[in-house]
Amino acid sequence: MYQAPLPTVYADMTPEEADARIVAAKKVLGSRLVVLGHHYQQNAIIRHADYRGDSYKLAKDASRHPEAEFIVFCGVHFMAESADILSGDDQHVILPNLAAGCSMADMANLFQVRTCWQELEKVLGPQTKITPVTYINSAANLKAFVGERGGTVCTSSNASKAVSWALEQGDKVLFFPDQHLGRNTGVALGYDPDSDMVVWDPFKPLGGNSPERIREAKFILWKGHCSVHKRFTVEQIEQARREHPGITVIVHPECPLDVVRAADLSGSTETILHTIEAAPAGSTWAIGTEINLVSRLAKEHPDKTIFCLDPQICPCSTMYRIHPSFLCWVLEELVAGQVPNEIVVPPKVKHFAKLALDRMLTVCS
Ligand code: SF4
Repeated sequence: MYQAPLPTVYADMTPEEADARIVAAKKVLGSRLVVLGHHYQQNAIIRHADYRGDSYKLAKDASRHPEAEFIVFCGVHFMAESADILSGDDQHVILPNLAAGCSMADMANLFQVRTCWQELEKVLGPQTKITPVTYINSAANLKAFVGERGGTVCTSSNASKAVSWALEQGDKVLFFPDQHLGRNTGVALGYDPDSDMVVWDPFKPLGGNSPERIREAKFILWKGHCSVHKRFTVEQIEQARREHPGITVIVHPECPLDVVRAADLSGSTETILHTIEAAPAGSTWAIGTEINLVSRLAKEHPDKTIFCLDPQICPCSTMYRIHPSFLCWVLEELVAGQVPNEIVVPPKVKHFAKLALDRMLTVCS
């Protein structure tokens, strides 16, 4: 989405000034405000967050504050949409920079997914039941698409339960937008990544597959990926093991299958966090996830050696767009009685998206 440039006074602000003004604005707004900070945000933002977490945990944290008029979501667009779906009608969800999207979520749009669904129905016929599963990293209208068709949302923590449930509902699962999470989940459930899965390329007829392969496959995996987690490689794991004998490697399931297989452990952001917290002092860890989180973990656990699996890794560039000057601007606008950058999911989309999110809660509880 388009974000208008910040007024000069904010664009030219020093980090110290932004920091002090954010603290002051938060104080004025008091309990009318909740600030949520995703784990991948920079420290200059995280220090102002009332809650830290992954996207779903943060939406739930916000729902514990029905008295808060304003929920400022320091994350990316689909997260603010989920918070709006799960929050009260009289609450306003604000994304400090509208240009903070997610490149993975943008790899599937409603038109493409509808086209895919129609093509699958044509090839498979009415006797075959397909259950759609969308990763929480997707636009609200895709969550609504799934909700309307009896499917569910999943997170990287509960993908296994959600996909098992989806398989019980019918013959096949259409999983989008992250092929890697879909593949890793299917493999963990005992399916073969070659014979049981096809990848759907939205830019090719039939997703680039023959009708026979689609009929044989149990999983249709959308050709999407996370640009951060796709960078991790088996070579990096081998190098870490050569240089640090006795090391444990833990990676996020948005990483490619060969990386997940080569690692010692894999799990969601929250799992990585809890694993490191519970690890013994003196242990050494290479982590395959976003650098802001890894650096923070290293700082918060000085008794352990912790580093990112990819020494060259860049932060998630879209998360990085939530710069302190944007946070300062939205908070001061709120103090002045304006509501900037509000994320509003249309009522019909909200209804079906909530259905899919509620189904996830039931299925994965
Ligand atoms: S880390 Fe990957 S999945 Fe997460 S917001 Fe950034 S691009 Fe999207």
